[in-house]
Amino acid sequence: MAEKVLIIGSGCAGLTAAIYAARANLKPVVIDGYEPGGQLTLTTMVENYPGFPDGILGPELIDNIRKQAERFGAEFRAGAVSEVHLSHRPFSIVAGQEKYHTETLIVAAGAVARLLGLEGERQLMGHGVSTCATCDGYFFRGKEIAVVGGGDSAIEEANFLTKFASRVHLIHRRNEFRASKIMQERARANEKVHIITPAVVDKVHGVEKGAVEAIDLHNVETNEKSTLPVEGIFVAIGHDPNTKVFRGKLDMDAEGYLVTKRGSHTNVPGVFAAGDAQDRHYRQAVTAAGSGCMAALDAERFLEIEKH
Ligand code: NAP
Repeated sequence: MAEKVLIIGSGCAGLTAAIYAARANLKPVVIDGYEPGGQLTLTTMVENYPGFPDGILGPELIDNIRKQAERFGAEFRAGAVSEVHLSHRPFSIVAGQEKYHTETLIVAAGAVARLLGLEGERQLMGHGVSTCATCDGYFFRGKEIAVVGGGDSAIEEANFLTKFASRVHLIHRRNEFRASKIMQERARANEKVHIITPAVVDKVHGVEKGAVEAIDLHNVETNEKSTLPVEGIFVAIGHDPNTKVFRGKLDMDAEGYLVTKRGSHTNVPGVFAAGDAQDRHYRQAVTAAGSGCMAALDAERFLEIEKH
């Protein structure tokens, strides 16, 4: 028998979609995916999610939303999605050892921030290493930090972080920045931003202490090595949406972000998308939750229209 609503992804977007779909009596089934709970599980304190004046830990927030969805009857299944068949309904989806059939599908598979792949980087995530300035900038008041990257995100984050940090070292592997001219000019005019190019980070120090203490760098032209004492490192080298399995099946842009129209509708009737898998700009927990709500309401309306 086919499910009415199947949701891929259990981050903020997928779980919010599950709450709404469950409360519409659609008995949603949520497939957890590779990273159950999504990117919020990688953060520490979340201070900008409405309703928590003292902040809330990312994993706790996700756990709460999950319990809320379960309370209304959402069901969860483990497994990463390996195949999707969207050419006719019910759609079929293979995840782990299971095959699912569903009348509507909500894709909330999220995106992963690219990492540098350095020693110490993963262990210190949330303890000085961050991929989200909006989320974590506030924790670096009066501290010296580094931002890595040369695109709009890196420059925007470097400028934003000067609100908190005493100094922001912007480290980029080339002398030319990919970011728009105006953003570059803003960074160059900001006396708190110190640009270091062409340089790459080799190591993040602080694993033993449990907090970032310094980074090792080298200049890629001269090969000169140095150690920079910083208490934070923001990696802003782009994101990859988790949409590979939908290639050739759902419309996406050149970088793989799903294209939505009229709210959360994709190009396939009955398939909706929410959260970071379709949002390259805002990438906030609250915007992901909002788009998850939209996707569930759109799926509910789609099923309702079909019934009459
Ligand atoms: P991006 O434009 O792809 O830039 C990624 C940057 O990271 C590049 O400078 C790249 O260096 C560098 N990089 C990639 N892998 C690296 C590695 N392993 N080690 C060191 N450096 C590495 O990504 P983005 O900045 O996140 O922007 C994504 C999209 O969102 C863009 O279209 C951007 O315009 C848009 N955006 C717009 C705004 C805005 O308008 N306000 C703000 C943020 C983002 P290379 O340059 O050498 O390749």
